[in-house]
Amino acid sequence: MSQQTQTVWKREDVQVRDIQHYINGSFVEARSNESFANIDPFKNKELNQVASGDERDIDEAVEAASRAFKRGPWGSMTVEKRMVYINRIADLIDEDIDEIAHLEALDTGLPISQTKKMTARAAENFRFYARMVQSVLHGESYPVDQAFLNYTVYKPIGVVGLITPWNAPFMLETWKVAPALATGNTVVLKPAELSPLTVNKLAEVIDRAGLPAGVFNVVHGYGETAGAALVAHKDVAAISFTGETTTGTTIIKNAADTLKKTSMELGGKSPLIVFEDANFERALDAAVWGIFSFNGERCTANSRVFLHKSIKDRFVEAMKERVDHLTLGDSMDQTTQLGPLISKEHMNKVKSYIDLAKEEGCDVYQGAVPDALVDGNFVPPTLLLNAENHMRVCQEEIFGPVVAIIEFEDEQEVIDAANDVEYGLAGYVWTNDLQRGHRVAQAVDAGMIWVNAQNVRDLRIPFGGMKASGIGREGGHYAMFEFYTEPKAIHIALGDHPI
Ligand code: NAD
Repeated sequence: MSQQTQTVWKREDVQVRDIQHYINGSFVEARSNESFANIDPFKNKELNQVASGDERDIDEAVEAASRAFKRGPWGSMTVEKRMVYINRIADLIDEDIDEIAHLEALDTGLPISQTKKMTARAAENFRFYARMVQSVLHGESYPVDQAFLNYTVYKPIGVVGLITPWNAPFMLETWKVAPALATGNTVVLKPAELSPLTVNKLAEVIDRAGLPAGVFNVVHGYGETAGAALVAHKDVAAISFTGETTTGTTIIKNAADTLKKTSMELGGKSPLIVFEDANFERALDAAVWGIFSFNGERCTANSRVFLHKSIKDRFVEAMKERVDHLTLGDSMDQTTQLGPLISKEHMNKVKSYIDLAKEEGCDVYQGAVPDALVDGNFVPPTLLLNAENHMRVCQEEIFGPVVAIIEFEDEQEVIDAANDVEYGLAGYVWTNDLQRGHRVAQAVDAGMIWVNAQNVRDLRIPFGGMKASGIGREGGHYAMFEFYTEPKAIHIALGDHPI
Protein backbone atom coordinates (compact mmCIF):
# COMPACT_ATOMS: atom_id res chain seq x y z
CA MET A 1 0.00 0.00 0.00
CA SER A 2 1.38 3.38 -0.91
CA GLN A 3 1.89 6.07 1.71
CA GLN A 4 1.42 9.78 1.07
CA THR A 5 3.58 12.56 2.45
CA GLN A 6 1.72 14.04 5.42
CA THR A 7 1.99 16.94 7.79
CA VAL A 8 3.04 15.22 11.01
CA TRP A 9 0.47 15.61 13.78
CA LYS A 10 0.45 13.79 17.08
CA ARG A 11 -2.66 12.70 18.96
CA GLU A 12 -2.23 15.65 21.36
CA ASP A 13 -2.23 18.09 18.44
CA VAL A 14 -5.82 17.24 17.56
CA GLN A 15 -8.34 19.32 19.46
CA VAL A 16 -11.45 17.36 20.30
CA ARG A 17 -14.41 19.30 21.64
CA ASP A 18 -17.80 18.16 22.84
CA ILE A 19 -20.18 17.99 19.93
CA GLN A 20 -23.48 19.80 19.54
CA HIS A 21 -26.15 19.80 16.86
CA TYR A 22 -25.98 22.43 14.13
CA ILE A 23 -29.48 23.79 13.61
CA ASN A 24 -30.58 26.96 11.85
CA GLY A 25 -27.03 28.31 11.68
CA SER A 26 -26.13 27.73 15.37
CA PHE A 27 -24.42 25.01 17.37
CA VAL A 28 -26.95 23.95 20.02
CA GLU A 29 -27.32 21.37 22.78
CA ALA A 30 -29.89 18.60 22.51
CA ARG A 31 -33.35 19.67 23.67
CA SER A 32 -33.21 16.84 26.21
CA ASN A 33 -29.80 18.09 27.39
CA GLU A 34 -28.62 14.51 27.05
CA SER A 35 -25.37 13.40 25.50
CA PHE A 36 -23.46 10.20 24.94
CA ALA A 37 -19.78 9.27 25.03
CA ASN A 38 -17.77 8.95 21.83
CA ILE A 39 -15.11 6.28 22.28
CA ASP A 40 -11.62 6.25 20.77
CA PRO A 41 -11.08 2.92 18.98
CA PHE A 42 -7.33 2.88 19.74
CA LYS A 43 -7.47 3.02 23.56
CA ASN A 44 -11.20 2.54 24.16
CA LYS A 45 -11.29 5.74 26.19
CA GLU A 46 -13.83 8.52 25.95
CA LEU A 47 -12.89 11.15 23.40
CA ASN A 48 -15.77 13.55 23.93
CA GLN A 49 -19.51 13.89 24.59
CA VAL A 50 -22.02 14.13 21.76
CA ALA A 51 -25.48 15.73 21.84
CA SER A 52 -28.11 12.99 21.79
CA GLY A 53 -30.90 14.07 19.48
CA ASP A 54 -34.49 12.92 19.44
CA GLU A 55 -37.76 13.87 17.78
CA ARG A 56 -37.71 17.40 19.21
CA ASP A 57 -34.30 18.22 17.72
CA ILE A 58 -35.32 16.70 14.39
CA ASP A 59 -38.52 18.78 14.41
CA GLU A 60 -36.52 21.96 14.98
CA ALA A 61 -33.99 21.12 12.28
CA VAL A 62 -36.67 20.19 9.73
CA GLU A 63 -38.61 23.34 10.51
CA ALA A 64 -35.46 25.44 9.95
CA ALA A 65 -34.66 23.59 6.72
CA SER A 66 -38.23 23.91 5.52
CA ARG A 67 -38.30 27.65 6.20
CA ALA A 68 -34.95 28.09 4.44
CA PHE A 69 -36.27 26.18 1.44
CA LYS A 70 -39.60 27.97 1.12
CA ARG A 71 -38.83 31.48 2.33
CA GLY A 72 -35.04 31.84 2.46
CA PRO A 73 -32.70 33.24 -0.17
CA TRP A 74 -31.39 29.78 -1.09
CA GLY A 75 -34.26 28.93 -3.43
CA SER A 76 -34.41 32.31 -5.14
CA MET A 77 -30.65 32.69 -5.53
CA THR A 78 -29.13 32.51 -9.02
CA VAL A 79 -27.35 29.26 -9.80
CA GLU A 80 -24.06 31.17 -10.22
CA LYS A 81 -24.34 32.62 -6.73
CA ARG A 82 -25.27 29.27 -5.18
CA MET A 83 -22.22 27.72 -6.80
CA VAL A 84 -19.99 30.42 -5.29
CA TYR A 85 -21.08 29.07 -1.90
CA ILE A 86 -20.57 25.45 -2.97
CA ASN A 87 -17.05 26.16 -4.26
CA ARG A 88 -16.25 28.09 -1.11
CA ILE A 89 -17.12 24.99 0.95
CA ALA A 90 -14.60 23.01 -1.13
CA ASP A 91 -11.88 25.64 -0.61
CA LEU A 92 -12.48 25.73 3.15
CA ILE A 93 -12.29 21.92 3.38
CA ASP A 94 -8.94 22.13 1.59
CA GLU A 95 -7.75 24.75 4.06
CA ASP A 96 -8.58 22.47 7.00
CA ILE A 97 -7.65 19.21 5.30
CA ASP A 98 -5.03 18.17 7.86
CA GLU A 99 -7.28 18.80 10.83
CA ILE A 100 -10.24 17.01 9.24
CA ALA A 101 -8.15 14.01 8.16
CA HIS A 102 -6.62 13.65 11.62
CA LEU A 103 -9.97 14.00 13.39
CA GLU A 104 -11.36 11.30 11.11
CA ALA A 105 -8.39 8.98 11.79
CA LEU A 106 -8.76 9.54 15.54
CA ASP A 107 -12.51 8.96 15.53
CA THR A 108 -12.77 5.98 13.19
CA GLY A 109 -9.40 4.18 13.44
CA LEU A 110 -8.89 4.53 9.68
CA PRO A 111 -5.20 5.11 8.83
CA ILE A 112 -4.28 8.76 8.38
CA SER A 113 -2.66 8.07 4.99
CA GLN A 114 -6.11 7.00 3.79
CA THR A 115 -8.30 9.63 5.52
CA LYS A 116 -6.18 12.37 3.98
CA LYS A 117 -6.94 11.15 0.47
CA MET A 118 -10.63 10.78 1.28
CA THR A 119 -10.80 14.32 2.68
CA ALA A 120 -9.30 15.69 -0.52
CA ARG A 121 -11.95 13.78 -2.45
CA ALA A 122 -14.64 15.24 -0.22
CA ALA A 123 -13.63 18.75 -1.30
CA GLU A 124 -13.73 17.61 -4.93
CA ASN A 125 -17.31 16.37 -4.47
CA PHE A 126 -18.43 19.98 -3.97
CA ARG A 127 -16.44 21.29 -6.94
CA PHE A 128 -17.72 18.49 -9.15
CA TYR A 129 -21.39 19.24 -8.42
CA ALA A 130 -20.85 22.98 -8.75
CA ARG A 131 -19.54 22.38 -12.28
CA MET A 132 -22.17 19.80 -13.10
CA VAL A 133 -25.19 21.79 -11.96
CA GLN A 134 -24.04 24.82 -13.89
CA SER A 135 -23.35 22.93 -17.07
CA VAL A 136 -25.74 20.00 -17.17
CA LEU A 137 -28.80 20.57 -15.00
CA HIS A 138 -31.40 21.74 -17.48
CA GLY A 139 -34.71 20.55 -18.82
CA GLU A 140 -35.98 19.74 -22.31
CA SER A 141 -38.60 21.23 -24.57
CA TYR A 142 -40.83 19.28 -26.98
CA PRO A 143 -41.95 21.12 -30.10
CA VAL A 144 -44.35 18.34 -31.03
CA ASP A 145 -47.40 20.45 -31.58
CA GLN A 146 -47.95 23.96 -32.96
CA ALA A 147 -50.60 24.47 -30.32
CA PHE A 148 -48.53 24.03 -27.19
CA LEU A 149 -45.08 24.60 -25.86
CA ASN A 150 -44.17 21.71 -23.59
CA TYR A 151 -41.03 21.85 -21.47
CA THR A 152 -39.52 20.44 -18.32
CA VAL A 153 -37.68 22.02 -15.44
CA TYR A 154 -35.77 20.10 -12.78
CA LYS A 155 -36.77 21.50 -9.40
CA PRO A 156 -35.15 20.77 -6.03
CA ILE A 157 -37.37 18.49 -3.96
CA GLY A 158 -37.30 20.36 -0.65
CA VAL A 159 -35.91 19.20 2.69
CA VAL A 160 -33.82 16.08 2.23
CA GLY A 161 -32.84 13.80 5.10
CA LEU A 162 -29.38 12.27 4.84
CA ILE A 163 -28.49 9.30 7.06
CA THR A 164 -24.88 8.12 6.98
CA PRO A 165 -22.64 5.32 8.34
CA TRP A 166 -19.39 5.41 10.30
CA ASN A 167 -17.02 4.08 7.64
CA ALA A 168 -15.27 6.96 5.83
CA PRO A 169 -17.96 9.28 7.24
CA PHE A 170 -16.70 12.65 5.98
CA MET A 171 -16.38 11.53 2.36
CA LEU A 172 -19.69 9.67 2.36
CA GLU A 173 -21.51 12.62 3.93
CA THR A 174 -20.20 14.98 1.28
CA TRP A 175 -21.30 12.57 -1.47
CA LYS A 176 -24.82 13.36 -0.37
CA VAL A 177 -24.52 16.93 0.93
CA ALA A 178 -22.79 18.27 -2.20
CA PRO A 179 -25.45 17.24 -4.77
CA ALA A 180 -28.29 17.97 -2.34
CA LEU A 181 -27.18 21.57 -1.78
CA ALA A 182 -25.91 22.23 -5.30
CA THR A 183 -29.31 21.34 -6.75
CA GLY A 184 -31.01 23.79 -4.36
CA ASN A 185 -32.40 21.58 -1.60
CA THR A 186 -31.97 22.12 2.12
CA VAL A 187 -30.57 19.39 4.32
CA VAL A 188 -30.96 17.68 7.68
CA LEU A 189 -28.08 15.24 8.18
CA LYS A 190 -28.13 12.48 10.82
CA PRO A 191 -24.56 11.12 10.99
CA ALA A 192 -23.56 7.80 12.53
CA GLU A 193 -23.36 7.88 16.31
CA LEU A 194 -19.98 6.08 16.22
CA SER A 195 -18.19 8.73 14.13
CA PRO A 196 -19.54 12.20 15.00
CA LEU A 197 -16.36 14.31 14.90
CA THR A 198 -15.76 15.38 11.33
CA VAL A 199 -19.36 16.17 10.44
CA ASN A 200 -19.13 19.08 12.86
CA LYS A 201 -16.10 20.30 10.92
CA LEU A 202 -18.33 20.21 7.84
CA ALA A 203 -20.91 22.28 9.73
CA GLU A 204 -18.18 24.74 10.77
CA VAL A 205 -16.95 25.00 7.19
CA ILE A 206 -20.47 25.57 5.87
CA ASP A 207 -21.03 28.18 8.57
CA ARG A 208 -17.80 29.96 7.56
CA ALA A 209 -18.79 29.75 3.91
CA GLY A 210 -21.80 31.90 4.89
CA LEU A 211 -24.68 29.69 3.74
CA PRO A 212 -28.02 31.09 4.89
CA ALA A 213 -29.24 29.74 8.26
CA GLY A 214 -31.29 26.54 7.98
CA VAL A 215 -29.92 25.42 4.62
CA PHE A 216 -27.68 22.79 6.26
CA ASN A 217 -28.45 21.18 9.63
CA VAL A 218 -26.92 18.33 11.61
CA VAL A 219 -28.71 16.36 14.32
CA HIS A 220 -26.58 13.81 16.17
CA GLY A 221 -27.97 10.77 17.91
CA TYR A 222 -28.97 7.16 17.61
CA GLY A 223 -30.72 5.58 14.67
CA GLU A 224 -33.80 4.44 16.55
CA THR A 225 -34.45 7.95 17.92
CA ALA A 226 -32.99 10.75 15.78
CA GLY A 227 -32.76 8.67 12.58
CA ALA A 228 -36.25 7.21 12.84
CA ALA A 229 -37.75 10.66 13.59
CA LEU A 230 -36.13 12.07 10.45
CA VAL A 231 -37.49 9.22 8.34
CA ALA A 232 -41.00 9.66 9.78
CA HIS A 233 -41.15 13.45 9.47
CA LYS A 234 -43.91 14.56 7.13
CA ASP A 235 -42.00 17.62 5.87
CA VAL A 236 -38.98 15.65 4.72
CA ALA A 237 -39.31 14.92 1.02
CA ALA A 238 -36.65 12.25 0.62
CA ILE A 239 -34.19 10.11 2.53
CA SER A 240 -30.78 9.22 1.14
CA PHE A 241 -29.35 6.42 3.25
CA THR A 242 -26.03 4.59 3.37
CA GLY A 243 -25.62 1.74 5.83
CA GLU A 244 -26.55 -1.85 6.53
CA THR A 245 -29.09 -3.70 4.46
CA THR A 246 -31.28 -4.50 7.48
CA THR A 247 -31.40 -0.82 8.46
CA GLY A 248 -32.22 0.12 4.87
CA THR A 249 -35.15 -2.27 4.86
CA THR A 250 -36.53 -0.71 8.07
CA ILE A 251 -36.11 2.79 6.64
CA ILE A 252 -37.93 1.93 3.40
CA LYS A 253 -40.86 0.55 5.42
CA ASN A 254 -40.99 3.57 7.73
CA ALA A 255 -40.64 6.05 4.86
CA ALA A 256 -43.62 4.48 3.10
CA ASP A 257 -46.09 6.05 5.56
CA THR A 258 -45.22 9.52 4.29
CA LEU A 259 -44.50 8.40 0.71
CA LYS A 260 -40.91 9.55 0.69
CA LYS A 261 -38.48 9.06 -2.10
CA THR A 262 -35.59 6.89 -0.84
CA SER A 263 -32.10 6.05 -2.06
CA MET A 264 -30.36 3.04 -0.53
CA GLU A 265 -26.60 2.37 -0.55
CA LEU A 266 -26.28 -0.86 1.40
CA GLY A 267 -23.91 -3.72 2.19
CA GLY A 268 -21.80 -5.92 -0.05
CA LYS A 269 -19.98 -9.22 -0.38
CA SER A 270 -18.07 -8.43 -3.52
CA PRO A 271 -16.16 -11.01 -5.56
CA LEU A 272 -12.68 -10.51 -7.01
CA ILE A 273 -12.00 -13.12 -9.68
CA VAL A 274 -8.46 -13.93 -10.81
CA PHE A 275 -8.21 -15.98 -14.02
CA GLU A 276 -5.12 -17.98 -14.90
CA ASP A 277 -3.95 -15.42 -17.49
CA ALA A 278 -4.21 -12.37 -15.22
CA ASN A 279 -1.29 -10.09 -14.47
CA PHE A 280 -0.34 -11.85 -11.24
CA GLU A 281 1.34 -8.99 -9.38
CA ARG A 282 -1.32 -6.43 -10.21
CA ALA A 283 -4.13 -8.78 -9.28
CA LEU A 284 -2.31 -9.49 -6.02
CA ASP A 285 -1.91 -5.79 -5.23
CA ALA A 286 -5.61 -5.29 -5.94
CA ALA A 287 -6.77 -8.25 -3.86
CA VAL A 288 -4.71 -7.10 -0.86
CA TRP A 289 -5.57 -3.41 -1.13
CA GLY A 290 -9.24 -4.14 -1.75
CA ILE A 291 -9.76 -5.99 1.52
CA PHE A 292 -7.18 -4.51 3.89
CA SER A 293 -7.41 -0.79 3.07
CA PHE A 294 -9.85 1.17 5.23
CA ASN A 295 -9.45 -1.64 7.77
CA GLY A 296 -11.66 -3.79 5.55
CA GLU A 297 -14.58 -1.62 6.74
CA ARG A 298 -15.55 -0.75 3.24
CA CYS A 299 -18.76 -1.53 1.36
CA THR A 300 -16.94 -2.39 -1.90
CA ALA A 301 -14.29 -4.56 -0.21
CA ASN A 302 -13.44 -7.71 -2.21
CA SER A 303 -14.30 -9.99 0.68
CA ARG A 304 -14.52 -13.06 -1.59
CA VAL A 305 -11.45 -13.79 -3.74
CA PHE A 306 -11.98 -16.47 -6.39
CA LEU A 307 -8.70 -17.95 -7.67
CA HIS A 308 -8.30 -20.17 -10.69
CA LYS A 309 -7.04 -23.60 -9.64
CA SER A 310 -3.82 -23.28 -11.67
CA ILE A 311 -2.62 -20.16 -9.80
CA LYS A 312 -4.31 -20.62 -6.45
CA ASP A 313 -1.41 -22.02 -4.43
CA ARG A 314 1.06 -19.43 -5.68
CA PHE A 315 -1.45 -16.59 -5.13
CA VAL A 316 -2.27 -17.74 -1.60
CA GLU A 317 1.43 -17.93 -0.69
CA ALA A 318 1.91 -14.40 -2.00
CA MET A 319 -1.12 -13.16 -0.04
CA LYS A 320 0.26 -14.75 3.14
CA GLU A 321 3.54 -12.94 2.56
CA ARG A 322 1.66 -9.62 2.20
CA VAL A 323 -0.40 -10.31 5.32
CA ASP A 324 2.81 -10.98 7.28
CA HIS A 325 4.12 -7.55 6.36
CA LEU A 326 1.10 -5.30 6.89
CA THR A 327 1.73 -2.73 9.62
CA LEU A 328 -0.93 -2.57 12.32
CA GLY A 329 -0.86 0.47 14.56
CA ASP A 330 -2.21 3.79 15.73
CA SER A 331 -4.34 5.29 12.97
CA MET A 332 -2.59 8.62 13.60
CA ASP A 333 0.76 7.13 12.62
CA GLN A 334 1.71 7.67 8.99
CA THR A 335 3.20 4.21 8.63
CA THR A 336 0.04 2.41 9.80
CA GLN A 337 -1.72 0.32 7.16
CA LEU A 338 -4.36 -1.28 9.38
CA GLY A 339 -5.84 0.62 12.31
CA PRO A 340 -8.30 -0.40 15.04
CA LEU A 341 -11.88 -1.21 14.04
CA ILE A 342 -14.61 1.27 14.89
CA SER A 343 -15.80 -0.29 18.19
CA LYS A 344 -15.24 -3.17 20.55
CA GLU A 345 -18.63 -4.54 19.60
CA HIS A 346 -17.74 -4.51 15.91
CA MET A 347 -14.33 -6.08 16.61
CA ASN A 348 -16.05 -8.89 18.52
CA LYS A 349 -18.49 -9.42 15.65
CA VAL A 350 -15.62 -9.69 13.14
CA LYS A 351 -13.75 -12.09 15.45
CA SER A 352 -16.85 -14.23 15.84
CA TYR A 353 -16.93 -14.66 12.04
CA ILE A 354 -13.31 -15.88 12.16
CA ASP A 355 -14.35 -18.48 14.76
CA LEU A 356 -17.30 -19.41 12.57
CA ALA A 357 -14.96 -19.88 9.59
CA LYS A 358 -13.02 -22.47 11.59
CA GLU A 359 -16.25 -24.25 12.52
CA GLU A 360 -17.29 -24.23 8.86
CA GLY A 361 -14.02 -25.92 7.88
CA CYS A 362 -11.74 -23.07 6.69
CA ASP A 363 -8.03 -22.93 7.50
CA VAL A 364 -7.38 -19.53 8.99
CA TYR A 365 -4.15 -17.63 8.27
CA GLN A 366 -3.59 -14.39 10.17
CA GLY A 367 -1.04 -11.66 10.74
CA ALA A 368 -0.15 -10.76 14.33
CA VAL A 369 -1.40 -7.98 16.58
CA PRO A 370 1.57 -6.50 18.51
CA ASP A 371 1.21 -6.64 22.32
CA ALA A 372 1.37 -2.84 22.53
CA LEU A 373 -1.98 -2.64 20.71
CA VAL A 374 -3.91 -4.78 23.16
CA ASP A 375 -6.22 -1.92 24.27
CA GLY A 376 -7.42 -1.18 20.75
CA ASN A 377 -10.05 -2.87 18.60
CA PHE A 378 -7.54 -4.69 16.43
CA VAL A 379 -8.28 -7.66 14.21
CA PRO A 380 -5.25 -8.98 12.32
CA PRO A 381 -5.45 -9.30 8.54
CA THR A 382 -7.06 -12.69 8.01
CA LEU A 383 -7.27 -15.16 5.14
CA LEU A 384 -10.01 -17.80 5.25
CA LEU A 385 -8.43 -20.54 3.16
CA ASN A 386 -10.24 -23.40 1.40
CA ALA A 387 -13.53 -21.55 1.74
CA GLU A 388 -16.62 -22.63 -0.16
CA ASN A 389 -19.14 -20.13 -1.42
CA HIS A 390 -22.13 -21.64 0.40
CA MET A 391 -20.51 -21.06 3.84
CA ARG A 392 -21.97 -18.27 5.97
CA VAL A 393 -18.57 -16.54 5.99
CA CYS A 394 -18.89 -16.27 2.20
CA GLN A 395 -22.49 -15.15 2.25
CA GLU A 396 -22.65 -12.57 5.07
CA GLU A 397 -20.96 -9.18 5.22
CA ILE A 398 -18.16 -9.31 7.82
CA PHE A 399 -16.98 -5.71 7.29
CA GLY A 400 -13.43 -6.17 8.55
CA PRO A 401 -9.97 -7.25 7.33
CA VAL A 402 -11.10 -10.80 6.57
CA VAL A 403 -11.15 -12.37 3.11
CA ALA A 404 -12.46 -15.76 1.99
CA ILE A 405 -10.36 -17.52 -0.66
CA ILE A 406 -12.32 -19.80 -2.99
CA GLU A 407 -10.93 -21.99 -5.77
CA PHE A 408 -12.60 -22.37 -9.19
CA GLU A 409 -11.95 -24.23 -12.42
CA ASP A 410 -14.06 -22.68 -15.19
CA GLU A 411 -15.69 -19.42 -16.15
CA GLN A 412 -19.34 -20.40 -15.79
CA GLU A 413 -18.68 -22.01 -12.41
CA VAL A 414 -17.11 -18.81 -11.05
CA ILE A 415 -19.87 -16.58 -12.47
CA ASP A 416 -22.51 -18.76 -10.82
CA ALA A 417 -20.67 -18.72 -7.49
CA ALA A 418 -20.03 -14.95 -7.66
CA ASN A 419 -23.77 -14.42 -8.17
CA ASP A 420 -24.88 -16.92 -5.56
CA VAL A 421 -25.09 -14.34 -2.78
CA GLU A 422 -27.77 -11.90 -1.70
CA TYR A 423 -25.63 -8.82 -2.37
CA GLY A 424 -24.70 -7.17 -5.68
CA LEU A 425 -22.59 -4.08 -5.01
CA ALA A 426 -19.17 -4.43 -6.71
CA GLY A 427 -17.14 -7.00 -8.64
CA TYR A 428 -13.54 -7.19 -9.85
CA VAL A 429 -12.30 -9.28 -12.77
CA TRP A 430 -8.64 -9.96 -13.50
CA THR A 431 -7.84 -11.42 -16.92
CA ASN A 432 -5.84 -10.49 -20.01
CA ASP A 433 -8.45 -12.07 -22.29
CA LEU A 434 -10.40 -9.09 -23.62
CA GLN A 435 -13.50 -11.06 -24.57
CA ARG A 436 -13.63 -12.87 -21.26
CA GLY A 437 -13.20 -9.61 -19.37
CA HIS A 438 -16.28 -8.18 -21.07
CA ARG A 439 -18.26 -11.42 -20.77
CA VAL A 440 -17.69 -11.80 -17.06
CA ALA A 441 -18.23 -8.09 -16.41
CA GLN A 442 -21.66 -8.39 -18.03
CA ALA A 443 -22.54 -11.62 -16.23
CA VAL A 444 -21.67 -10.81 -12.63
CA ASP A 445 -24.63 -9.34 -10.72
CA ALA A 446 -23.22 -6.08 -9.39
CA GLY A 447 -23.90 -2.40 -9.77
CA MET A 448 -20.21 -1.76 -10.45
CA ILE A 449 -17.53 -3.92 -12.07
CA TRP A 450 -13.87 -3.17 -12.48
CA VAL A 451 -11.80 -5.16 -15.00
CA ASN A 452 -8.06 -5.15 -14.27
CA ALA A 453 -8.64 -2.21 -11.95
CA GLN A 454 -9.43 -1.63 -8.29
CA ASN A 455 -12.18 0.75 -7.27
CA VAL A 456 -11.25 3.72 -9.44
CA ARG A 457 -14.04 6.23 -9.00
CA ASP A 458 -15.21 8.76 -11.56
CA LEU A 459 -17.92 10.96 -10.07
CA ARG A 460 -19.82 11.05 -13.37
CA ILE A 461 -20.36 7.30 -13.21
CA PRO A 462 -23.23 5.79 -11.19
CA PHE A 463 -22.24 4.38 -7.80
CA GLY A 464 -24.47 1.82 -6.10
CA GLY A 465 -25.65 -1.74 -6.03
CA MET A 466 -28.33 -4.18 -7.08
CA LYS A 467 -30.10 -6.96 -5.12
CA ALA A 468 -29.64 -6.46 -1.36
CA SER A 469 -26.92 -3.86 -1.96
CA GLY A 470 -29.30 -1.07 -2.72
CA ILE A 471 -31.81 0.85 -4.74
CA GLY A 472 -30.79 3.88 -6.77
CA ARG A 473 -27.39 5.31 -7.57
CA GLU A 474 -25.21 8.16 -6.38
CA GLY A 475 -22.94 10.25 -8.60
CA GLY A 476 -23.30 12.42 -11.68
CA HIS A 477 -26.59 12.54 -13.54
CA TYR A 478 -28.13 9.91 -11.30
CA ALA A 479 -27.90 11.99 -8.15
CA MET A 480 -28.89 15.20 -9.93
CA PHE A 481 -31.75 14.16 -12.17
CA GLU A 482 -33.10 11.05 -10.49
CA PHE A 483 -32.84 11.81 -6.81
CA TYR A 484 -32.24 15.40 -5.73
CA THR A 485 -34.56 17.00 -8.27
CA GLU A 486 -38.07 16.38 -9.61
CA PRO A 487 -38.83 16.89 -13.28
CA LYS A 488 -41.78 19.21 -13.68
CA ALA A 489 -43.66 19.15 -16.99
CA ILE A 490 -45.03 22.55 -18.04
CA HIS A 491 -47.57 22.88 -20.88
CA ILE A 492 -48.23 26.33 -22.33
CA ALA A 493 -51.09 26.86 -24.73
CA LEU A 494 -50.01 29.02 -27.66
CA GLY A 495 -53.61 29.89 -28.56
CA ASP A 496 -57.22 29.34 -27.48
CA HIS A 497 -57.49 25.69 -28.35
CA PRO A 498 -60.53 23.56 -27.64
CA ILE A 499 -60.51 22.32 -24.04
P1 NAD B 1 -26.05 1.13 10.09
O1 NAD B 1 -27.12 0.71 9.18
O2 NAD B 1 -25.92 0.48 11.41
O3 NAD B 1 -26.18 2.69 10.41
C1 NAD B 1 -26.18 3.66 9.39
C2 NAD B 1 -26.94 4.88 9.87
O4 NAD B 1 -28.31 4.55 10.04
C3 NAD B 1 -26.47 5.43 11.22
O5 NAD B 1 -26.47 6.84 11.15
C4 NAD B 1 -27.54 4.94 12.18
O6 NAD B 1 -27.68 5.73 13.33
C5 NAD B 1 -28.78 5.03 11.30
N1 NAD B 1 -29.92 4.19 11.71
C6 NAD B 1 -29.90 3.01 12.35
N2 NAD B 1 -31.15 2.55 12.56
C7 NAD B 1 -32.00 3.48 12.00
C8 NAD B 1 -33.41 3.59 11.90
N3 NAD B 1 -34.23 2.66 12.40
N4 NAD B 1 -33.94 4.67 11.27
C9 NAD B 1 -33.12 5.62 10.74
N5 NAD B 1 -31.77 5.58 10.86
C10 NAD B 1 -31.21 4.52 11.47
O7 NAD B 1 -24.70 1.02 9.25
P2 NAD B 1 -23.21 1.23 9.77
O8 NAD B 1 -22.85 0.05 10.63
O9 NAD B 1 -23.06 2.61 10.31
O10 NAD B 1 -22.38 1.17 8.39
C11 NAD B 1 -21.84 0.02 7.84
C12 NAD B 1 -22.72 -0.48 6.71
O11 NAD B 1 -22.83 0.51 5.68
C13 NAD B 1 -22.15 -1.71 6.00
O12 NAD B 1 -23.18 -2.62 5.76
C14 NAD B 1 -21.64 -1.15 4.67
O13 NAD B 1 -21.56 -2.09 3.62
C15 NAD B 1 -22.64 -0.07 4.41
N6 NAD B 1 -22.09 0.90 3.45
C16 NAD B 1 -22.59 0.92 2.17
C17 NAD B 1 -22.06 1.81 1.23
C18 NAD B 1 -22.57 1.85 -0.18
O14 NAD B 1 -22.29 2.81 -0.87
N7 NAD B 1 -23.30 0.86 -0.66
C19 NAD B 1 -21.04 2.69 1.61
C20 NAD B 1 -20.57 2.64 2.92
C21 NAD B 1 -21.10 1.75 3.84
